[in-house]
This record gives sequence, C-alpha cells and structure tokens, in this order.
Amino acid sequence: MQVDVIRILLVEDNPADARLVEWALSEVVGCRFDVIRAERLSEALQCLDGPRFDAILLDLSLPDSFGLDTISQIGIVAPTVPIVVLSGLLDDELAFEAVKGGAQDYLVKGQGDGYLIARSVRYAMERKRAEEALRESERMLEQAQRIAHVGHWVWDIASGHLCWSDEVYRIYGYQPQAFTPTYELFLAAVAVEDRQRMVDSIDASLRGRGPLAFEHGIVRTDGTLRTVEERGEMDFNAAGNPVRMRGTVQDVTTFKEVETELRRARDDLELRVEVRTAHLAEANRRLEHEVVQRTRTEEILRGERDFIAAVLDTVGALVVVLDGKGRIIRSNRACEQTTGYSFEEVRGKPVWEIFVAPDERRGVKQIFNQLLNVRSPSEYQNYWVTRSGERRMIAWSNTVLPARNGAAAHVIATGIDITDQRKAEEHERQRMLELAHVGRLSTMGEMATEIAHELNQPLTAIASYSDTCNRIMKLPTWNVDEVHEILGEISGQAHRAGEIIRRLRSFARKEDSQRASVDVNELVKDMVYLTEAEARWHDVTVLLELADRLPSVVADRILIEQVMINLVRNAIDVLGSDQSVQKRVLVQTWVNDRNMVEVAVSDTGPGLSADAVKRVFEPFYTTKSSGMGMGLSISQSIIESHDGELWVTSQPGQGATFGFVLPLETEVEVSNAV
Ligand code: ADP
Repeated sequence: MQVDVIRILLVEDNPADARLVEWALSEVVGCRFDVIRAERLSEALQCLDGPRFDAILLDLSLPDSFGLDTISQIGIVAPTVPIVVLSGLLDDELAFEAVKGGAQDYLVKGQGDGYLIARSVRYAMERKRAEEALRESERMLEQAQRIAHVGHWVWDIASGHLCWSDEVYRIYGYQPQAFTPTYELFLAAVAVEDRQRMVDSIDASLRGRGPLAFEHGIVRTDGTLRTVEERGEMDFNAAGNPVRMRGTVQDVTTFKEVETELRRARDDLELRVEVRTAHLAEANRRLEHEVVQRTRTEEILRGERDFIAAVLDTVGALVVVLDGKGRIIRSNRACEQTTGYSFEEVRGKPVWEIFVAPDERRGVKQIFNQLLNVRSPSEYQNYWVTRSGERRMIAWSNTVLPARNGAAAHVIATGIDITDQRKAEEHERQRMLELAHVGRLSTMGEMATEIAHELNQPLTAIASYSDTCNRIMKLPTWNVDEVHEILGEISGQAHRAGEIIRRLRSFARKEDSQRASVDVNELVKDMVYLTEAEARWHDVTVLLELADRLPSVVADRILIEQVMINLVRNAIDVLGSDQSVQKRVLVQTWVNDRNMVEVAVSDTGPGLSADAVKRVFEPFYTTKSSGMGMGLSISQSIIESHDGELWVTSQPGQGATFGFVLPLETEVEVSNAV
C-alpha cells in the first residue's frame, strides 16, 4: 500500500535522541514522516487516545515506566499499532526480549540513518498488519471450527506433547484450554468398544501406513454419547521417522443422526415407492387385462350386432323395433320390401302414422299401450298400407323389452304378411262351401226315395182321412164332432209333411256362411228326424243320449247339420247292408274334459280295419259301389274350419264311432277378441 504520510508517535524522554530521530526521518526522500513526540508513558497513552498512529518508536526507559511493562501497557491501549523499540547499546538484550513480548522490531539509538529507521518502521507496520491478518484468520478459523464442530490438534511424537484447539475441548465436553491434554486423556474419552481400534489406527499411521481416518464414539464427562470423526496425517523427517501428527476431530453426531434419519426416510420412501410401483404395476396389469377384455367384448358385440343385423335382414318376417312412444327405431329389409318405404324414411316416426290404415290407428295405439302396461307378449293382426296404397294383412307377435337402468321400454314386433294366405284360406273356404252344398244336394238325391216314402205316409193318410170325411158328410145324419176330429187328423198329417219339406229346404239351401249360436242338441234331433225314414227302411234303431244343459257353440248351422247327417247316414248305410240281428245307432253329446262340446255317432256295424281308419277322411275314399267318398272329407274340412276336430275309433267286428268336437261359444268369443 502506498503511504504518503506516516504518523509516528515518538516516545523518548531524551530530547537529543528524539531530535536525532526526527532529523534522520526528515532526511528520507519519497516519504514524509509526521512525528509527534511524548516524553513519558502517560503522555504517550494520551496521544494514543487521539487520531490513529501508523507506528510507535518507543524508548523502554521512561521516567514513568520501564522495560517490557511499557510495551504491554501501550499494547493494551493500541493493540493494532506496530511498535519499534529504541534501545541503547547496552539494552540489546532487553530490546530482543521486547520483540518477543510484542514489539515488531528494535533499533539501536545512534546507529543507522533515516532510511534505516524508515525501513524498520515500514517493516514493523507490515509485520503488524500480517500479524493482525493472521490473528483475524485464526479468529475466523476458530469461529469456523466452532460452527462446523471441527477442532484441530497437533501431537508432537518426540515430546508426547498434545495440543488441542478450543473446539477440540468443546467436542470432548471440556472448558476450552481447561487443562493440558495428553494422549491417555484422549484415549480415556474414546468409547471402550472403539478404543483398541483407535490405538491400532494411530499405530498404523505411525508406521507410515497412510493417514488416520477413524470414526468412533466418545463418552463425555457429563455422560452424553457423541460420535466423532478423527482425521490425521503424520509428518516424517528426512530419515523417515514420525515427527508429529496433525489432525482434525469433527462431531458428526447430528450429521449421523440426520444421515440415519435420512437413510430411514429414504428406505421408507423406497419401500413406499416399491409398494406404490407394485400397486401401479398391478393396476396397470388389471387395466391392460380390462382393455383386452373390453376389446374382446366389443369385438364379440360387434360380431353379434352384425350377425343380428344380417339375420334380421335375411328373415322373411317383418321386424320393427319401437321405443316407448311407438316410434320406429329399427326395421329390417323384409319391412322395406313389403311396405316400399326405406328405413331412413320411417326412422323416428310413430308406426301408426306411417303404416297403419287410418281406420285402425286408434285400435293399434290402444293395443300398443296395453302391451306396455301388461308387458307380456301379445299377438294381433292388422292391415298395413304400403307406399302404393295396397292393404296387407300382417299377423304380429310382440315382445316388450322392459325399461332397464333408466332406458325406456322397447317393443319388438315381428310380423308375417298373411294377405296371400288369407286369400288362399278364403278361397279354400268358398270351395269347401261349394263342395258342401254339392254334397248336401247329393245327399238329398240319395235320400229322395226315403223322403218320398216319408212324405207319402202323411199324404196317403190325408187322402184316406179326406175320403172318410167325404163319405161321412154324404150320410143323412153325421156328427160334426166326428168330422172335426177327422179334419184335425188331416191338418196334423199336412203339418207333418210340411215340416219334412221345411227341413229339407233348409238343409238344401245355399247361403253365405253365417255363424251364430247353435244348440247342438236341437241340431242333432233335427237331423235324426230327417233320417228317421231311412232308418226305418233299413230296420235300424237310432237312439239319442243327449247331455242336459249342453252349452251352445258358435257355428254355421247348415254345415254342422251336414256333418251330422253324413255320420248318421253312414252308420245307417253300414247297418243296412249288415246281416247282424242288432242294428242300432247311438248318438251322444257331452262336454269333454277339454271343455269342448263333443258329439259321437256309434253303430253296431262291422267296424273299420286299421288301414281304413287311416284313410276314411281322404277324398274319394269309399267302399260303397255307388259312393263318392267325399262325405267324410267335406265333414272334416267343415269341422276344422270351426276350430274343431273330426275323429273315428273302431275295432273290426265291434262297430265304429265317428265324432267331432267344437269349442264352446265363450271360448270362440275370447279367441276372436284377441
Ligand atoms: P261314401 O259314403 O260316399 O263312401 P264317406 O266319405 O261318407 O263316403 O265314407 C267313406 C267310407 O268310410 C265309406 O265308404 C265307408 O267305407 C267308411 N265308413 C263310413 N262310415 C262308416 C261306418 N259307420 N262304419 C264303417 N265304415 C264306414
């Protein structure tokens, strides 16, 4: 550092010596010395209270102080100001002691010029500054050691002298510098279990086997346990012998605790990470599995959906899916083909607005609402109107898919276009009616002889009664009552003939088929009456066993009469050509266990073979020379058109029973209503 002016405190009681110094310094070129002089120590101390001096030139022999004491007193007041001792020739030893006791240099009075003094002053200033810097650095080191809990030590091998820094004392639990440490004292503080290893480590270092690095426990005087780390290096002389060992000791207890804590936390964290990772891996695995499952399920569903769509489009039946409000949400190809409307055209529209004939809309809506409420499958038939205005009769079968998980109910309607079937059925019915009529006429033709005979009886009786009456009335006297009686007989016979003709006309008439409530017992009696003449002719007895209070059926009376007369005449026929003694026909009616009206005609004739039983209802099957073989075939068609059944049972040689069943009136009404 460049110093322009150096302030000197010259403490010298001898004026001559003082002047010599002042004069010498004034001679120095390049530097100016500002010298303040004090003659006594007290005066010097006063000066030092004022502005700072760069150096003090001090005579040790003052009137109020002497020797090293002077230095220490000045050192107390101005510890940072360098001191150059001025000594006399004889004071050389004292001056030397002064340097050891704190002065930076010394000059012998009267020797040397101003430059020597200036050089000494400057040297003293630099040395003082260096000392200060060193002291400061030591203070900082000390502070750093304290903060870091690191102490340092030196062990002189030859003398065994051990030196600890303050922090070493603190680490070991002592007051700094409270005693002079020894190797034994040090070992005594080392935890018992670590002691031998410590000795071995130091021994190894002494033998030059590398630096000391050792962690061990210590037991402080207050009983607390600490962990310290010792590090040391051995100095060897040129001969390779150990001279001293220098080292540090650090209290690593907190560090260790933190480290342990950290390790535990890390282990804990690792464990948690491991567990979490395992959980995540498991969740991931499950997710992957789910994704695979879902993809597979979706594929299956897609396949099923495509399959169902293909099936729906392939089936010939009409399929329409409706929502809870009757709107079309799906229809198939058959639907498109039958109606002429594409699915896109009808999608979302109420089914009755598009397809149902206006006169049937109300009814269809009602059925739809009933279906949603009742939720059981139902069947009905109605007309659909196609794009071209054609009416097609569709037989529907409906299924309700109930609302689930908040989804609205759906109705799946499957329909079959029965328009053509209906037409064919109607055609068939008409054909059957025609045939039946022809059959009736043929029957009447066959019965003509017997009926003529039957009519002949009343007509003969009428003629006979008329002749008698005529004869009586020619007598001169005749009894009016007798004539009345004969006229009554005539009237009775005429009614009988009229009744036969009425029934014949009724049987032979051709009318449109009309169904009405029919009393089967009455019908049976009428037909038996018509065949009475024929029965008598063949010497056959017809017996009736009719159920009381037989429920009525809904039927076309003429057609059922035809069936009845066929069965009774067949029985009379077979008995007529039979030579057996007993010729009897039994006609029975009853309600069977299926709650249907059943009629049976049994005879005592030869019966039928098993083959004949199988074939009797076939058209043109006959065993009669003049037979047509159509009677039973027509009868079967008639009964089946009434939802009934014509049957036969027979054992050869034991007669035959032909019968039919018809549903009761109430059942017919119910099934029509559905
Ligand atoms: P047809 O009377 O013109 O032969 P049907 O169809 O009425 O036609 O009868 C067919 C055949 O059934 C008869 O030819 C007869 O062989 C047999 N058959 C009908 N009724 C009886 C009966 N009660 N006993 C035995 N055979 C019968």
